[in-house]
Parts: sequence; C-alpha cells; structure tokens
Amino acid sequence: MAAPRGGNFGKVLEIDLSTQTYRTRTIPDEVYQQFVGARGLGAYFAVTEYKAGKNPLDEDAFVFIGSGPLAGTMCVSPRTSVVNKNPYTGLLNHGECGAHLASELKWAGWDGLLIRGRAKKPVWFSVVNDRVEFRDASRMWGKTTETTHEMMIREMKDSRIRSILIGPAGENGVPYSCLIVERFRAAARSNAGSVFGDKKLKGFAVRGTKYAVPVVDNARFLAAANVAKETNISDPGAGRRKVWGTASSLETNNFVLGSLIVKNFQTTWWPDIVKLGAEEAERKFWRRHVSCTNCQTHCLKLGVLREGKYRGLIAEAPEYESGGLLGSNLGMRDFDQMTALIEACDAYGLDYISTGGVLAFTTEAVEKGALKPSDLDGLKPVWGDGETYMKLIDKIAYKEGKAGKLLSQGVTKMSRQIGKGTDAYANVVKGRELAAHDPRGDKNRYYSYCIGTNGADHAEGASSRDLCMVAMNDSLCLCTFTSSGVWGASTDKIVVDMLNPLCGWNWKTDDYWTAAKRILAAERAFNVREGISAKDDRLPKRMYAEKLPAGPKKGVVFTEEDQKQRQSDAYKFLGWDEKGIPAEATLKALNLEFLIDDVNAAKKKFNL
Ligand code: SF4
Repeated sequence: MAAPRGGNFGKVLEIDLSTQTYRTRTIPDEVYQQFVGARGLGAYFAVTEYKAGKNPLDEDAFVFIGSGPLAGTMCVSPRTSVVNKNPYTGLLNHGECGAHLASELKWAGWDGLLIRGRAKKPVWFSVVNDRVEFRDASRMWGKTTETTHEMMIREMKDSRIRSILIGPAGENGVPYSCLIVERFRAAARSNAGSVFGDKKLKGFAVRGTKYAVPVVDNARFLAAANVAKETNISDPGAGRRKVWGTASSLETNNFVLGSLIVKNFQTTWWPDIVKLGAEEAERKFWRRHVSCTNCQTHCLKLGVLREGKYRGLIAEAPEYESGGLLGSNLGMRDFDQMTALIEACDAYGLDYISTGGVLAFTTEAVEKGALKPSDLDGLKPVWGDGETYMKLIDKIAYKEGKAGKLLSQGVTKMSRQIGKGTDAYANVVKGRELAAHDPRGDKNRYYSYCIGTNGADHAEGASSRDLCMVAMNDSLCLCTFTSSGVWGASTDKIVVDMLNPLCGWNWKTDDYWTAAKRILAAERAFNVREGISAKDDRLPKRMYAEKLPAGPKKGVVFTEEDQKQRQSDAYKFLGWDEKGIPAEATLKALNLEFLIDDVNAAKKKFNL
C-alpha cells in the first residue's frame, strides 16, 4: 500500500466525540485511485465499515466531511462533501456545498474528517493545521448559525476561519435539518444536522496555514488547470451565471422550459415570478457578488433588504432552488418576505428544499380540507401568506406545538399520519421532498430525482453519463457549474489531464468512467442493503396522474413509458440489473465483490 504522491495527503482526521480525542488515519493511494476522494471516499467508508441496517444515530455512526484531490489547488474546486447514513431517509446520502471549507481543510493538511461518538454536553472543536482543540459549546447551544459562526470567530480571534455547524433545528433533532457552511452555504441533502445534534456537536472551524497540496508535475498540472479555467471563462452560460446567479432560471423555467414549481407542483406557470427573480433581486437587494475558492463565475449574490419589516436583513438570496421552494412553490409574490423565509432556514439550519416542500404540502392539505387550523395551533396557511409560513418555520425548528411536531416529520410521515388522500400530492422520492424542477416540464430530471443516490435531489445528473460525471465532480470537489456543466463531452479528458500530473497517476479516460461507476455502485449497493430497488425509482403520484394545466408545457404528464426508457438506459449504462441492483459481474469488475453476499442477502430479505 503506497502513500499518495500528489493531490491527497493520505490523511483523514478521525474525531471521537465520546472521548474527545483524535487520531490520524492513513489512506493509501490505492483507495484514492478507486474512490477518488470526498463523496467517493465517504462511500468507501460506508460500505467497508457499516453492516446493513446500521442505525444512523448510533454512537459510533459517522459523518464524513471530505475534500477531494483538486481542492486547494489552482483548479476551480471548492466543493465540500458531507456523507452519512441519513436518519431522514434511512439511506446513504451525500450533501455538497461551495464556499472555502474544502480548500481550508487541505491547507490544514487533511483530506477529510471522520466524526464519530457522542459528547456528554455540547461541544465544538477547532482544527488549526495539526492541532485539534475541543471546546465548550454550552453558550452556543440554541443559537442560530449566524451567531454561532460569529462566536467561533471571536473565540479563535481569527476572522478567516471556515465553519460548518448546526442551528436549533439540528439540536432539536428535526430530521431534515442540515449543516450550514461559512454562514450562507448549506450541505443540505445528507441531513447531517440532526446527526450533529444527536452527537451534541455544534460544529467545527478550520484554519489551514501550513500545508500546500502536493503536485507531482506542477507545469503539466497548471497547463491542464488553465485549459479548464479558460473553457469556463469563454462559456456563455457561465457568463450569465456571473451576472445573474442561478436566480435567473426562475424566470427561464417559468416562461421557457415549463418546469418551475408552483403551489406544491400544481402547475409550472407563475408569471409573478418576475417579482421574485434575478432582475428584482438586482434592483432591490443584491449588494455584491461572492465566489467560492478560485471561482471566476462568482454566481453567489449577497444582499441586504433596504426597507420594510425586514430592513437590514442580510442574506444570500435567491438562488434558483431557494426561490423556487420558498417562492413560487408557496405562491409568494413578495420578494422581501421570501428572502426572510430563506434566511430563516439558513439561520435555523433547515434544508430549505424539504422545508419548502413541507410548507407547500401543508398548504394544499389545508386547501383540500385534510388539515384544519386546529391541527396547526390555530394557523391557517394560504398561498403567499409569508407571515404564517414564518411562524410555521419557527415551530418546525423547535418542534413546537402540534404544528411543529407534525411538520417537522416531513411530508412522507405527515401524509401517512393525515391520510385522507394526501398521498396524491405528497411530492417525495425515497422519503423526501422534491427540489424545484417539475419533472413533467423537465423529464430528464428523472435521472437526478430517481436514479441518483440521494433521491429527490436536483443535482445528481440529467442523463446516465451525467450521473457519472456528477459523482466524479463531487468526489474531486468540482462544482458542476464550472466543470461538466461547461466542459460537456470533454469532461473526462480535462479531468484526467489534471489528475495525472497532480496525483502522479496514469489514468486513461476509461479509468474516469470506471471510478464513477464504482462510486455509484457502492452507494447503490449500500442502499440496496436497506431495501432499495427499481420499485423505489419512481416519481411522486402527481407527476404521472395530473397533466400540467398551463404554461409552456401545458398538457404534459410524465408517463410510465418516460420512466421505463430512462430507467433501463441508466441501469444498462451503470451495469445494474432490471431491478436496479448492481449485477454481480459489475460488482466484480469494479472491485466491489465484497458486497455481493450483502446484496444477495438483501434480495432475499426484501424480496427484490
Ligand atoms: S459557480 Fe463558482 S461561485 Fe458558483 S457555486 Fe460554483 S464554484 Fe461557487
């Protein structure tokens, strides 16, 4: 087993919160050549360390926070991956976010952190290069993510720390709570917030000043990274994102694509989106463009509300997803109110995709008489009623009252509890709420929502090849907007041209695809062990049953044939059988033969 020569340090920081100790775990280069890093490395730990049925809230359950081989280099590679078995879905999930944490981790000399154990009282810790200090978080417990971030800065006397932490929602065990990174970014879709809360971990902060990422052949690596960067700079799509962020897709998806989500996916047509979108944001809210490490696209927009009830509120908003879920999906027309809802989710550490899904489902349930104000502590949400939505978000974060207890469970459990036909509009895949793209208007979103590991995630890829490229982006720490989303069919070559001189590898483009398929097969095999198969790769009932009533895709429905085509295309490409289970031959070819017995046992146990 050899140590990595470049790209990775071959070191993961293992934290044990129960004993408040840490140690270095060495990772050989062979593991990186198979699983790459970040998301892939998290999948490796999951399939090699967990047995089927592992309780994600066991004391020894882990959260892996990883940084890939490209992070901290001159390449645009700012993504951090969070990988854990998710208490919300019961599955292996991953959440990615931008900002600077991934690079800072590398500059502190670590490829990632593996966090286990459970503290007796609230704790946080700092990582400054090789030094780890456990600290008392009693005064932070109950505080919002914003306040906690500021408290960490003050205690460490360093404004350049990078933090990842939870808010009250994670502390209170809301299953769709998440980790907030550096105040405005969310690693949402692994829902690690409640796992941190269970571990009594408020979060941690990193500062790296000592290490540079080792590069085997610097001149070749820089030349390849420059090709990648120049391709991004000349891309018109990246140019649009630079000016408008992702918020401009709110208007595009409404007026052109017909895939905006509106009122719990009742339609995709909401002309009032112009009151919530990018031009409105530029006029009344945005103050500055913000970028992740090394990124010239700077799609992030920070702003401040300048008048009205929320005057002075600072937020990063809207992005496409937040504007869709907490804007049009709730029938909102008021930009300020929508922005306040987005910021409340960040402050409490709630996944705003699930939160927006829960609020929209609740509103439709009230509209259809399945829920009454008496079920919701006297509250009666109606479309566009931002004041009531804010009160409900407060209740969710603290699981307060009847409403808080009901809504904090998420749509799947709510629908089961309420009954009364609510399953017809419970818009979930694999137990969680859909993101802001209606798959009737954007049919290839099926790949992302249903075949992608997470389920209901918008960012897992829009084709079979795309699923692979996103798995690699997440493992390398590349942002899709500045990699495969721009590089297209050249992605494998551009990545391999960077990886070989960086890591001292001798990859061909075939190795890129093999690694991607290995990561996806490992994640899928893990979830097959939990009972997942083709039967779960389905969209919510509404998508097959109700034609879109208006907009550019008026009359369109997602058909069984639409599903069949995409499902069989993906299974074939990935080497999975017709039941969506990685075939024995595939597992052998990908060096995952150690999972064959587990997969066969699951087939028997769950009758797959
Ligand atoms: S495009 Fe750039 S600024 Fe936007 S999320 Fe990706 S890396 Fe960050």
